[in-house]
Amino acid sequence: MYAIKLELKLNNCERTLMKRHAGYARFCYNMVRTLYLGVMDIKVSRTRKLGLIKKTFTNFIKKQPEYQWTNTLSSRVYQNAFIAFNRGLERFVKGGSGFPNFKRKKSGDSFTVDSSNGPIFLSAGNRIKIPTLGTFRLKEAIGYNCCSQTFTISRTADKWYVSFTVKADKIPPLYHFVCEPTGIDLGVSTFATLSDGTVYQLPGSLKKAKIKLGKLQYRNRNKQLGNKKLGTKKSKNAQKFERNFGKQHANIASRRRDFLQKTTTEISKKYAHIRIEDLNISGMAANHKLAEAVLGSGFYEFRRELVYKSPIYGTVVEVVDRWYPSSKTCSNCDHVQPMPLKERVFVCEACGNSCNRDLNAAINLASVSRDRVRMASPELTPVE
Ligand SMILES: [Zn+2]
Repeated sequence: MYAIKLELKLNNCERTLMKRHAGYARFCYNMVRTLYLGVMDIKVSRTRKLGLIKKTFTNFIKKQPEYQWTNTLSSRVYQNAFIAFNRGLERFVKGGSGFPNFKRKKSGDSFTVDSSNGPIFLSAGNRIKIPTLGTFRLKEAIGYNCCSQTFTISRTADKWYVSFTVKADKIPPLYHFVCEPTGIDLGVSTFATLSDGTVYQLPGSLKKAKIKLGKLQYRNRNKQLGNKKLGTKKSKNAQKFERNFGKQHANIASRRRDFLQKTTTEISKKYAHIRIEDLNISGMAANHKLAEAVLGSGFYEFRRELVYKSPIYGTVVEVVDRWYPSSKTCSNCDHVQPMPLKERVFVCEACGNSCNRDLNAAINLASVSRDRVRMASPELTPVE
């Protein structure tokens, strides 16, 4: 069983519909909470109390003229709000958490609907039929036919998502296209270079977004951010800036996450035997100029994902000894020569071979002798 989360492509009408349902879910949850507090001390079982509340809600509250608006919305929303509240109560009773809080508008929009008569069939394609809500367009297609019963719709910043679980195992590919060892060199100018010449570049949009973030921060450097000790308040414009800043941060993080996930999956599907450098991350981060590039572009995350995906896709991930001079060795004749960071092309002093710096390093990683290689383990720390 695994979860699928897809972005919805909504028009304004559909957006409003989703917002109304999210509001309805909040309303139901908070109403149940209020009613439950009222009957908390009555000595009947929790299930019975909730059953009574549900009856009151359906037969009395929903009939009130001021709550007529609830009748135009999906009744599954309120069923699921009950379920969610009950789950919160269970956690509270078990002592795992406090009494369920009110749902607040500022903590985001999310609601759940389900199909009351069993799982429904979802056909592959870029449309999804959500029970009781209708059919919606998707930004990214469902890859295959599947079945699911419960659907959660949520909003992050201004994007809406639908998530559901599919009762199936992910089937790893039966074979890889490339079986011989493949070296991967991670770099500042090119994100990843593979020994067969494949190159993965950080998306340009990510760089642009980072620049935008820097500008935003600089232009708002004099905003009145407020100070509790001095008793000054945060200005309206500072609040606006913080909202924007958070949005931009979320944008960058999701772009990077997406890039890394897609790249590592693609590599894990295609190459059976992967060799990567043992990153001396703390050493690189000590170099001021490299620090941003190393920590900001996700080298460590890249390796972590390759390693945890290895049992799923049946790949072997190996780490090459940190002291192996992969970028200083000629991939043609094994001659070792100094290579300053700024030199982008490796020109061998011994055999005249000239090769892109990163590609040269990747080829060396692929062909390194066995005694300089060890299996990458998930619990591997960047610096041992
Ligand atoms: Zn050479």
